[in-house]
Amino acid sequence: MACAVVLDLDDTLWTCDGGCVSFLSLPFTRVSEDTLRDARGRLLHLRPDARPLLDELRDRGVVVSIASFNLPLHAQHALRALGLGDRFFRPQIATISKREMLRRLHLSLQRNGMGYRDMIFVDDDLKNVILARALGITALCLGRDIHSLADVRGYLM
Ligand SMILES: [Mg+2]
Repeated sequence: MACAVVLDLDDTLWTCDGGCVSFLSLPFTRVSEDTLRDARGRLLHLRPDARPLLDELRDRGVVVSIASFNLPLHAQHALRALGLGDRFFRPQIATISKREMLRRLHLSLQRNGMGYRDMIFVDDDLKNVILARALGITALCLGRDIHSLADVRGYLM
């Protein structure tokens, strides 16, 4: 059965100085496979289990997307600098509510025959997890329900 994995960015896919990619200063420079440095020397680290999970999801044909409250310019720049710019289906990166991001993504996924019940959402913020569950999404709180992105594998349909 088809499913879609939707990921938050800050403190889920990556961690960064200041806590939020929108607070970093462009441009970003890639200093190792999974680390970026901003214009003022602050660092962003892709979680070590992120790339293996994204590779596995791609190989299994799982749709992967993003729901992240951030400035699109900063987040897209970071994703491109990490070599992940083309990995995500209709990434929702905006300064709007997560509920609206998930609703918009659901509209796109419906055209592929998927509904909220086919979506797995991962976020470190419990309040986002709760609102996603209210929509019928399988929502996982990183740090509570799962302790590593690798654990997402156990929820794939
Ligand atoms: Mg977060």
